[in-house]
Amino acid sequence: MSIPTVVGFHYTLKDKDGAEIDSSSGGHPLYVMLGKGHIVQGLDKVLPDMKQGDKRTIIVSPDEGYGAVNDELRLRVPRNQFPADANLAVGVQFQASPERGAPVFTVMKLEGDDVFIDGNHQLAGVELHFDVEIVEKRPANQEELAHGHAHGPGGHHH
Ligand SMILES: [Zn+2]
Repeated sequence: MSIPTVVGFHYTLKDKDGAEIDSSSGGHPLYVMLGKGHIVQGLDKVLPDMKQGDKRTIIVSPDEGYGAVNDELRLRVPRNQFPADANLAVGVQFQASPERGAPVFTVMKLEGDDVFIDGNHQLAGVELHFDVEIVEKRPANQEELAHGHAHGPGGHHH
């Protein structure tokens, strides 16, 4: 049995037009245990080939990122199907059901008695451009193996 690898890396995520979506720069690097599906597939398969100190731009297609846009998750729902006290405003997010992993919907538009919601991940259909720099690469330690995920330099963090 091989011990999973943990990498710590800084990243800047942009879309294909160069607009920044997210970045770790100025903060802590992100630590992940590789091969566990904790990060998008397109990164999970490239990071094992990189060494500490390596910098690379990794382009991830929606297939290996957050998936294609699914039109069936774009719904029009009558307002009266929401709880009376629901905060319905553009941009509000809610989980469709209390189960863990249930899709999260975002309110996109309010029109008359209809609420337009979208259950796609906000990055669905987006080609992801990651600028990555590996700051640490090592085997998972005992505590990480027991938890099934990576810990940063400060140890357990949640
Ligand atoms: Zn933990």
